[in-house]
Order: sequence, then C-alpha cells, then structure tokens
Amino acid sequence: MNRYKSASYLHGREAVSVFSRLMLWAMFLLLSLPEVLGQERGVSSDQSVKASSEGMKRSEAAAEQKARFVPPFDFPITFSGNFGELRANHFHGGLDFKTQGVEGKPVRALADGYISRLAVTHGSGYVMDVTYANGYTTINRHLSAFIGEPARRIEELQYRQETWEVELKLKPGEYPVKAGEVIALSGNTGYSFGPHLHLDMIEDATGDYIDPLPFFASQVKDHTAPRAEAIMLIPRRGKGVVMGGTLCRQFPPRPKQTLTAWGWVGAAIKAHDYMDGVHNRYGVHTVELEVDGQPVFRSVVDRFAPEETRYINSWNLSGFMKSVIDPGCRLRMLHDLNGHRGWVHINEERPYLFIYRLTDALGNRSEVRFTVHGRRSAIPSSPYPLAKIQISPVLSSRLSAGEEFSSSVVSSLGEEHPLPDVNSSDGGSAPKAASSDAVGNPGSPVSANEAVWVKYHWRWNQLHVMQEPGLQLVVPRGMLYDDVTLRYAVRADSGDVAFTYQLHDEALPLHNSCELRIRLRHRPLSDSTKYYVASVHSKGHRSYVGGRYDKGEMVARIRQLGTYTVAIDTIPPVIAPINRNSWAHTGTITFSAKDSETGIRHYRGTIDGHFALFGKPSAIRPYITCRLDPSRIKRGQRHQLVFTVTDNCGNSTTYQGEFYW
Ligand SMILES: [Zn+2]
Repeated sequence: MNRYKSASYLHGREAVSVFSRLMLWAMFLLLSLPEVLGQERGVSSDQSVKASSEGMKRSEAAAEQKARFVPPFDFPITFSGNFGELRANHFHGGLDFKTQGVEGKPVRALADGYISRLAVTHGSGYVMDVTYANGYTTINRHLSAFIGEPARRIEELQYRQETWEVELKLKPGEYPVKAGEVIALSGNTGYSFGPHLHLDMIEDATGDYIDPLPFFASQVKDHTAPRAEAIMLIPRRGKGVVMGGTLCRQFPPRPKQTLTAWGWVGAAIKAHDYMDGVHNRYGVHTVELEVDGQPVFRSVVDRFAPEETRYINSWNLSGFMKSVIDPGCRLRMLHDLNGHRGWVHINEERPYLFIYRLTDALGNRSEVRFTVHGRRSAIPSSPYPLAKIQISPVLSSRLSAGEEFSSSVVSSLGEEHPLPDVNSSDGGSAPKAASSDAVGNPGSPVSANEAVWVKYHWRWNQLHVMQEPGLQLVVPRGMLYDDVTLRYAVRADSGDVAFTYQLHDEALPLHNSCELRIRLRHRPLSDSTKYYVASVHSKGHRSYVGGRYDKGEMVARIRQLGTYTVAIDTIPPVIAPINRNSWAHTGTITFSAKDSETGIRHYRGTIDGHFALFGKPSAIRPYITCRLDPSRIKRGQRHQLVFTVTDNCGNSTTYQGEFYW
C-alpha cells in the first residue's frame, strides 16, 4: 500500500477521496481474503504477542540508534502533541513540534539522506518527506514553504497541472541532504490550528509509523508522569454487572463510593501525559492493568501500520482507553495478558484490587489503585434487550398507499417480544400533519401504533447484508469490532426524495467504508448530479457523505452506521473578495469561499485569461488566495480576474472583476 497516500488522511478531511479509493482496494482485499481477515482473536493474539516482541527488539534497536538524529530546530524542542494521541478515527501519527508561536522557522534535516517527496495538499498543506540513510523516513507537514530548487519545481508543476494540490516523488540523487541542513520553513498550512511542525517517522523496513520521541530523548525536558482523570468499569454483555446494572460506569481515580461488580467486567482509564514547563496534554505511552497481582492487559503506543489506525475506534471509548480487547480488533498495540482479552471474572464476594500503571515514552510512571467488591447479583441474559421501534406516522401513511415497500416491512415484523420502547429520537423530521392520514386509514398494513421488531443482530466475524425497502447495505467481514444489535428504523424525510434510514441509533464505526444504496422515491430534479447521500445527525442537521446516482439509486460508501438519507444540493457556493482595495498593495488576491450544503470540491482562477495559482493554505479557514507573480503578470496595469468555485454537486459561483496591480 502506498504509504504516502495512506498517511495523507491522517491529517485531512480533504484527503477523503484518496481515502475512499484506498478503501475500495482494501474492500477488495477483504472480500477476496476472508479466511485471512476473519480469523478468531485466539489466533491473532498469538501473532500480536510475537509481533510485539519483535516490536520491542526493534524499539531497542531504535534506541541504540537515537544519536543519529539531530532535532529539526536550533531552539529547544517542546511539543504541542505526541505520538499516538487519541484523535477522531486515528492515532496522531507523529510529534507536533512547537515553533515559538510563529511560522517560517527553518526546518533542518535530522540526518544524512535525501528529499524523497514534495506535496501540497489541502489536508496537510506543504509536505516534505525525507528518506534518511539510517532506515527511517520522516514526513514534515504544515510547512509554510519549500526553499530553493524544490520550491521552484513544485511551483512549475502547479502551473503545468493547473492545480494547487500536487505531488512530486523524488529519486535519491536529486536533492541529497546533510544532517542539520535547512530544508524547508515551518508553517500552519492544511488542517492545523496553530503554527507547528508535524513530524511523522516511518520505519522503512516495516512501513510502520513509530514514535520519534525516543530519538530526541536527550533534548527533551520531561520528568512528569501521566495522570489519570477517571476510571470506568464495563460490564460484559449478558455476562456481568457493574453497580448491579448493565451500563458502563465511570468514577474518579480515587472513588469515594464502594465499587461493586459481579461476573465478567472490564476496566478502562482516561489519562493524559504531561511534560515539564508546558501546559499541553499528551497521549499515554503505556497502560498496564493488573488485578490481585496478576497481569491483565497492557497497551504500548509505540507503532502502528496505516491500516491499523482506525482500530482506535475499537479501543477508545469516549476518551477512555479500554483494557479489554474487542474480538474484531487487530491493533498490535493492545496485549491480552490474562487469556481473556482483559476481561476480569468477579466470582467471589471479596475485594479485588485493581492497579493501573501509566508510563510515558521516557519512563515516568504513575499508579492508580482502586478496589472492586464482588457482590453477588443477578446478571440479565442480554443487557441490550431487543428494542421495538415506532414506525413513523408518515411512513405508515406511505405504506397504506400500497407501495412496493409494504410487504417487506410487514414481513419484517418478527415474533413478538414484549420489551420496552426505545426512544428513537434521532434524525426524525417527519411532518406532524401526516399522522392524521395514517391513523384513520383502515387499509394500512402497519399503523402508527405498531412497531418494527429489531431483526439485526450482527456477529463481528460474519458478512452482513441489510436489505430493506429502498435500501441495501453490505458489511463485509472485518468491518465490525464486536457483535452488535442494531436499532434499525425508517422514517420519511421532509425533503421527500428518499426515506431516512436509521441503520443504528448511535454512530457505530466500521473498520472500512461499506457500500450503501438508497433508492430515490421521487426525482424532483432530472439532473442526477444534484443528489447526494447525507448523514443525519441528532438535531436533524445533515452532512454531506457523497455518492453517485445509479439507476434510480444513490450509491455511497459509509464508514459508520448511523442515520442516512438522500438530499439535494442546488445552492452554489458563496464567494466574497476580501480586502479588495489592498490586493495591489499586498500583492495577494484573497477570496472567502463557503458552501453550506456539500462543501467545496474545486476552485479555479484566471488573470487576463491565463491560469492563476489560487490555493487554500488553511483547511480550517475559508480563504483561497493567489500571490501575484511579477514574472507571470505584467505590473502597472489593469487586469481581468475570473474566479470560480464549485461544490460537490457541481453548483458553481463565478466572480469576475478588474483590479490594478
Ligand atoms: Zn500533528
């Protein structure tokens, strides 16, 4: 797998299209090699033990070599982020070096090697890879600029390809570098919230992202151990209870109340690491749990392969690092030390002493001790009872009209389970007026008071197909981390283009993207490019997922189970010139460009009919800029400017105007 492309999604929403292409490939692999990826955890945990001891040997080897790298800056190094911090859908892949609050700090080569790639991306800004002779490659992200010949090469490529986003792979002989040589300028480009240098370090032999910190240990001031904020007890589904109940419970690190449990329970901890003299919080390198002196679980955040990073969704439970390993989780950082994937059996009425040991990358260590009292209590056979979900009044009225959908919805009414209602409040936007239609209609096969019984109980190690009226979702093996009972429901959508499908009542991450097809019920617009699959959030707010039209359906790839529908975007982006009167004086043209519905896919500008190099230096600010280049534009006259921005459904807005420069 191409490391660079895999890496790019670590930092950018804009890299989503690259990501989805990769995922298509990954899906192909998963579908064609189910016996490899669908293995039982028992097999894979042996492998992970093996991998970890190799990993340890490699880290030791790395430690021996640490003198080989000089720091990237000539001022004392401090960090705004460390390797392996828990982020949304990924581990933070590198070290974030602080740059004294400013951009433009000279970035130095860490050893002898060569510049192996240059790229400009919306997600990571200006990016430079350096491959070193000692077996490691670094990726420097969020740079403000390249310098010298590489800078000229990239600009030439941008003009040749007529796009700001470019990539240039380089050969060893092209731009060799020496340790300490200035290679670029630090910045704040891409998905960055302040000036810093993000430095990924990749071990060439394995392609793994590794923690660069040990290489700089002698320059780092850190005598501060990690600190716990909270602990959590997790009752195992159908096999354990915590405080007499089936819900996860969180407590302060030194709980005042008596903690009780019975049956199989797991633990989790929320903790951060700190360094001397700075206020930043970092991820914790090692978490170890023992119970009554017996090792139970260990996590060591020292390396991961790009395809492993999304397993973070299996480990991270609302900011807590779980000390139990999901059966479908193949993250090598997690180690089962008790043969039960970290689950602890509380089967005697006595105190059980839990001890967490937290260690940072430089060996600073802290401990959290708490006691869980075994207290015999009943364990419900399933802590997540099959839920009944109200069918929306609007849907009932549709069904009563005898549409093709009715038969399969009716057939989906399984045997009766007298269980409590689930409050399916999310995403519903059904107009109230429609309910009266439904209630009075004697022909309705499903009245508003009846319910659709949950019929989706998915095993983590199987392929699943959800087939519903107007909906199909294929979830191959390897996508789920654990078994799940879906709280499926369907509702009419106020836009009326398609039903709104609640695949599950909370966002459940899938390991890779899965194909979702939603049938259009009405086509108010003949232009099929204006439809898109939208994710529906708790307050009815919708966000763009993507998708293409195919024979009456929208086909999209989704990375989590949630609520989805089809929406229409015919609203073009809004663009506005910023400080027009100062363009001539600053030599920079700036527009603000926003698209509320589907987001900006493309922008392009010309000056006097020729391509002008507009770029989006920040992924978090709406500005698109063009630096005027006297070698390309004749100074001292009026110029014709045309600037067009296009959204993801092909709606565009064009600005045309004159300016003097
Ligand atoms: Zn970073």
